[in-house]
Amino acid sequence: MLLGAIDQGTSSSRFLLFDADNGDLLASHQIEVRQLFPHPGWVEMCPKEIYETVLECIKKVSEKMVEQKVGLDRLKCVGIANQRETTVVWDRETGEPLHNAIVWLDTRTSALADEAIQKTESKSKEHFKAKTGLPIHPYFSVLKLQWLLRNVPEVEEARKKGTLMFGTVDCWLLWKLCGIHATDVTNASRTMMFDLHKRKWSSELANFFEIPMEILPKIRSSAEVYGEFLGGPLKGIPISGCLGDQQAAMVGHGCLQKGDTKNTYGTGTFMLSNIGSQPLISKNGLLTTVGYQFGSDCVIYALEGSGSIGGNVIRFLRDNFGFIKDSSEVEALCRSITSTEGVIFVPAFTGLYTPYWDPTARGTICGLTQIANRAHITLAALRAVCFQSAEMLEAVEQDMEDTKITAIKVDGGMTSNILFNELQADIMGRRIDTPSVHEVSGWGAAMAAGIGIGLMKPENLSEKQAVRSYSPRISDSERHHELHRWKDAVKRACGWAID
Ligand code: ADP
Repeated sequence: MLLGAIDQGTSSSRFLLFDADNGDLLASHQIEVRQLFPHPGWVEMCPKEIYETVLECIKKVSEKMVEQKVGLDRLKCVGIANQRETTVVWDRETGEPLHNAIVWLDTRTSALADEAIQKTESKSKEHFKAKTGLPIHPYFSVLKLQWLLRNVPEVEEARKKGTLMFGTVDCWLLWKLCGIHATDVTNASRTMMFDLHKRKWSSELANFFEIPMEILPKIRSSAEVYGEFLGGPLKGIPISGCLGDQQAAMVGHGCLQKGDTKNTYGTGTFMLSNIGSQPLISKNGLLTTVGYQFGSDCVIYALEGSGSIGGNVIRFLRDNFGFIKDSSEVEALCRSITSTEGVIFVPAFTGLYTPYWDPTARGTICGLTQIANRAHITLAALRAVCFQSAEMLEAVEQDMEDTKITAIKVDGGMTSNILFNELQADIMGRRIDTPSVHEVSGWGAAMAAGIGIGLMKPENLSEKQAVRSYSPRISDSERHHELHRWKDAVKRACGWAID
């Protein structure tokens, strides 16, 4: 039997087919998607392109299956793993988007975040943290939606007509593919309109942010039949799993026990630690989020370190500076030198998330000398991603008090770079495990879909064995010194984009 997964990320769309028994990837297709930067700090994507690249990937994989003489009748269900927070608005009657999607990285709502903070009684960005697990910050969907309602006349008109629909990318795809208006708990928990404890939309939050509740999708668990493909090669096959991509990776890695931790290096960096069935609100700049919900009673929460710095920095060095032509060249370039020679790069293009939550931070390079070249800056970029993870790990261990994280399971595009995995182990001082499954988010979503149709049971999900582990090669004092230098450089990046 086969399980399918749509993995719609910020860098690309993918469709994947797995063998249900062992998670082997049998066929896949991937298409890079465009990110649009209309102003500094703004990041948009075209909702139609998101949908059409998904359709094209499904078509291509279906053709491959025909070529390999594998009947699509073996495919029992499909799950969705998606980039989170990215906000789409469309018209119910025309099915047309009313604006480009505002991507999670976008910081246009910094002023709206300040306005919201000033409107709270406590005048603190932490005001709703006990309820939502999140600080008031441009990252989360609600401020993006508020911006669209206030600034785009077509959105306001549709609201008045009663045809406005809001959704994150999972919801947009479910609408286009199955004709239903629904989202799952993990995606809902990233909007800042979601009560983490009741696992429902909060009318208090919707009112506070002036969002009409009738435009919100229905919240469902992460594993149940949402609907069926309305057309195309998968017509009639159920979509029965849905998770934000980071939560899907947590499931895909088998982080099912308290303390199990994964870190995904895609466009950004996201570290999630399983904290069990009760939400724990962070005191150290982490988010609390729903990890997954399989059925009505199996709910697991996670502490999350969110990083705006990840593979996007490599894309930046490729597209803006031409340091490399392809990300596969990064490793050889960085291995051509043994040290950054004191260069520290803080690539905070759209602010910093965990633990700083500063939307005004901007990119900074410290320590340039006349010998610095593209190799030093590229190596400093890889190290920046690792320093950001080390800060997340510090926060997780402080919040979880009695739990020491001994190993971290990693995945995402950047982990194909062996040097990067070695640097992670050195800078975090922990064992780094890379998994046997390459498409971890996709596999997590596929397993959720298997659970959703009753083909698999949550208690039977197993932890995947690591294929390769990396151990730290530097001393604790060296590590502390380097982290200290990084924090010093971060201070110079923070607060930069103040008019
Ligand atoms: P997403 O799920 O966010 O779409 P992926 O997991 O596909 O992202 O990762 C893509 C990112 O990984 C890109 O931003 C790319 O720059 C980065 N990347 C890919 N290969 C390498 C490499 N060898 N070294 C460093 N970064 C890489």
